[in-house]
Amino acid sequence: MAKAKILLIEDNRAEARVTRERLEGFGYDVLVAAGGTEGIRLLKTEKADLVLLDVVLPDISGHEVCRWLKLNEDTRAVPVIMLTVKTAVADRVDGLHAGADDYLPKPYDDVELNARIYAALRTKALMDELRRKNQELSEMLERVEVMAVTDSLTELFNRRRLMAIVEKEFSRMRRYHSPLSCLMVDIDYFKGINDRFGHQAGDQVLRQVARVIRDSVREVDTTARWGGEEFVVLLPETTRDQARLPARRILERVHASAIDAIGGETVTVSIGVADCADPVVDSGDKLIVASDMAMYEAKRKGRNRIEPE
Ligand code: GH3
Ligand code: MG
Ligand code: MG
Ligand code: MG
Repeated sequence: MAKAKILLIEDNRAEARVTRERLEGFGYDVLVAAGGTEGIRLLKTEKADLVLLDVVLPDISGHEVCRWLKLNEDTRAVPVIMLTVKTAVADRVDGLHAGADDYLPKPYDDVELNARIYAALRTKALMDELRRKNQELSEMLERVEVMAVTDSLTELFNRRRLMAIVEKEFSRMRRYHSPLSCLMVDIDYFKGINDRFGHQAGDQVLRQVARVIRDSVREVDTTARWGGEEFVVLLPETTRDQARLPARRILERVHASAIDAIGGETVTVSIGVADCADPVVDSGDKLIVASDMAMYEAKRKGRNRIEPE
């Protein structure tokens, strides 16, 4: 195991030498600084595991040095033990206020010195471990949260997330009397793609169509994978008439994009458009149903088209 590195900030040369020898005798690596500024500089460049800090220094007081180390992001986790000649309670309290982790009255005996260093290093090791675990945990939680609302194949929102958004948008629409539209986009004859080119190629088609849809609508619109080869786009502040424009864009762009995975062939989609003007549409759920029904009408009328026209 690597030796722990201790930074000793002590202006008295004789004392510094004695303390360094003792610390080296205990098996630590030791760096010595003769003043506060030098100590701060050394800690930033050398990354010590612990600081032994004299209270009385020629340039800045030990308490100031400690405060500075504890305010700084890079050095705040390094434990500081204040070395104090005075055994006055006020002096120790000052040290603790400045953020010192412990103090040691001079002259100190070997056993006490070693015990305090050991305790501070152990606490630091536990804190480091805790910090690392917390970091891992929060990263994992974030991944789980993203996974729970994302479709893994297309990276669009999944159905669950869409349902939450559509209900929210529906209430907003009700509250502010603003329009809200929905597109249901279904790939035509997709089963045939899977049959001819295989499921993997089918997946590639889904990814590409998803990208085209997402890139054809605004940032404020919500694009989600509804099911197998079906996608939903929610368009806030947009009437059914206005929604035909992005629908047309999607229809044309999908049809125009050659897909490598199926030998450069293209696919088409059928799109149903609905908004909340019809009194039957009295929830977010019903809005999606209405767009689905319109989409089936587009299929019935021959596919590769938008309904209502
Ligand atoms: P239509 O023009 O009437 O929409 O016909 P279609 O073949 O597109 O529709 P159908 O509902 O008959 O078939 C959809 C197919 O989509 C069936 C299913 O195997 C396939 N599918 C569903 N999810 C996935 C997926 O994640 N990956 C792949 N490759 N295929 C999928
Ligand atoms: Mg001193
Ligand atoms: Mg379908
Ligand atoms: Mg289909």
